[in-house]
Amino acid sequence: QANERESLYLVSEFAKDYFHSTLLKTEQGKAIGLSYFKERGFTEETIKKFELGYSPDQWDSFTAHAIKKGYSLDYLEKTGLSIVKEEKQFDRFKGRVMFPILSMSGRTLGFGGRILSSEKKAAKYLNSPESDIYHKSKVLYGIFHAKQSIAKEDNCYLVEGYTDVIQFHQTGIQNVVSSSGTALTPEQIRLINRLTKNITVLFDGDAAGLRASLRGVDLILEQGMNVKICTFPEGEDPDSFARKNSLEELSSFLEENAQDFINFKASLLASEAKNDPVKKADTIRDMVVSISKIPDVIQREVYLQECSRIMDISEEVLFNTLAQLLQKDR
Ligand code: ATP
Ligand code: MN
Ligand code: MN
Ligand code: MN
Repeated sequence: QANERESLYLVSEFAKDYFHSTLLKTEQGKAIGLSYFKERGFTEETIKKFELGYSPDQWDSFTAHAIKKGYSLDYLEKTGLSIVKEEKQFDRFKGRVMFPILSMSGRTLGFGGRILSSEKKAAKYLNSPESDIYHKSKVLYGIFHAKQSIAKEDNCYLVEGYTDVIQFHQTGIQNVVSSSGTALTPEQIRLINRLTKNITVLFDGDAAGLRASLRGVDLILEQGMNVKICTFPEGEDPDSFARKNSLEELSSFLEENAQDFINFKASLLASEAKNDPVKKADTIRDMVVSISKIPDVIQREVYLQECSRIMDISEEVLFNTLAQLLQKDR
């Protein structure tokens, strides 16, 4: 078992190097992959730091090359790098730019691959399938490059995508990781919890991003961590925003717009249905549900007071609602 896992790591590391050198050294890689990344504003230094790559637009270039180098088709299939169908072999990531996903200690676990042409109907991003080394609910993209900075800054920015992580690094912010397409999980939060108690959720300025950040909040509170939320202007994501702004501008935007979850939920209500009593009641209930997730009694009380003040409702009512919720959980 341990041996098999080691073999999967080795084949993944081989693939990472292959995609990276294909991007930097082959005609097709340079013309298609490298120019794509440069158009997105990534520098050569950034591309090398994250070992970005390109998978050739042929049916089995990578697979054939790996087999020639002595890697077994069995392991290529188990990592999902190759697909075997009716005794034929195919590259899973054919024609995509590649983002290797590293563990906390820097081992290659899997890949995300982005399609280049927008006409094709295939999914924009394709990920490695689950394997003995890649459990997508337990990894965070960027954690290897972020861990030192997370501990030093005592805060972790949580974003949605690969390019958000990379663009932040290039702008000068390194304490950033991404859940990369999966809904945030308790295991992912636990990885951050080992490094800091503070998470700032930065999701895209669209409806999907908003839903995702709301879902994440309670999971973070449950682990006794502090959470702030910062949303981007409509149509922007952390990548596009960072690209347009300097480090100073980005930092002050984050500083000025990060809100605790009570204020965040209150401002959502204010922006959609300020005077609707039913919606206001729903928002208050929702806030109390979030507060009930906090393990620390004193912290719960502090947030109840804040909720009472902001929503202009008596602390007693909130306290009773909270007590009922805590009762139910037992
Ligand atoms: P880009 O800027 O390259 O268009 P993005 O990172 O802004 O991409 P979003 O649409 O905001 O992309 O999605 C956020 C993240 O969700 C992606 O980085 C990717 O990890 C994941 N994702 C998006 N679309 C898909 C998909 N079709 N299949 C799997 N994962 C996806
Ligand atoms: Mn989005
Ligand atoms: Mn995005
Ligand atoms: Mn984007």
